[in-house]
Amino acid sequence: MIQVKQLNVDYFGHKALTDVDLEIPMGFSEGIIGPNGAGKSTLMKAMLGIIPSQGQVHYMGKDIRENLRKIAYVPQKNELDLTFPITVEDTVLTGTYPKLQLFKRPGKNEREIVDLCLEQVSIQDLRKKQISNLSGGQLQRVFIARALAQQADVFFLDEPFVGIDLKSETIIVDILRKLRSEGKTILVVHHDLHEVESYFDRLLILNKKVVAEGTVKEVFTNKNIQEAYGGSLGNIQIKGLGD
Ligand code: ADP
Ligand code: MG
Repeated sequence: MIQVKQLNVDYFGHKALTDVDLEIPMGFSEGIIGPNGAGKSTLMKAMLGIIPSQGQVHYMGKDIRENLRKIAYVPQKNELDLTFPITVEDTVLTGTYPKLQLFKRPGKNEREIVDLCLEQVSIQDLRKKQISNLSGGQLQRVFIARALAQQADVFFLDEPFVGIDLKSETIIVDILRKLRSEGKTILVVHHDLHEVESYFDRLLILNKKVVAEGTVKEVFTNKNIQEAYGGSLGNIQIKGLGD
């Protein structure tokens, strides 16, 4: 499991996360929801040690920093420099780097992994294109392919479905289902409450602190959503919401 103990994140005196305690079991897909600014992206980055935090994060009983190779991370789109001059296939190839030994260059084996991953997200024909020329959905598929190339056990995805077309969403959802059926652990920051029930086994509701965490059935309730979002949702009907 992934265990988070008393995680606190502070941005120049502004508290983004307070006393986060979590025990995330392996082998499930888990959604992370909460209003804008709730600290969802901050939580992922702090768990991966990308930003400074206080507290501990353990993966299978050890400091998570000893095992980052096992975790693939796709950041939120607005955090990436999409003007960076790199082709689709080279982007996916960088996913194989964590597994390469020191001073080794990617070879035939890595090229084969790239081919397979491009195929899985149906972008073989775009392999020579610059990433700056892709649509939102194509781009997200490239980053999913890169994550697949890492051959990780755990996947952290920050809002993978934002700004993408339906075809891309379907492809990515199918891949996540397949990974889940292979026993991988998938954590997804998600913005759309309507799909929570169909996409995830478990749910973390966050608003600077943990509002609730557990199976979707346990925690996807009106009371918890109200607590996290307050009045900001208005009077909408949400599919699959308990009570
Ligand atoms: P979410 O992903 O849930 O929308 P974030 O984790 O991006 O929320 O941000 C949580 C809070 O921390 C917000 O108030 C945001 O403005 C602030 N924040 C995020 N990143 C930084 C940063 N690099 N410097 C200062 N404040 C930040
Ligand atoms: Mg975010």
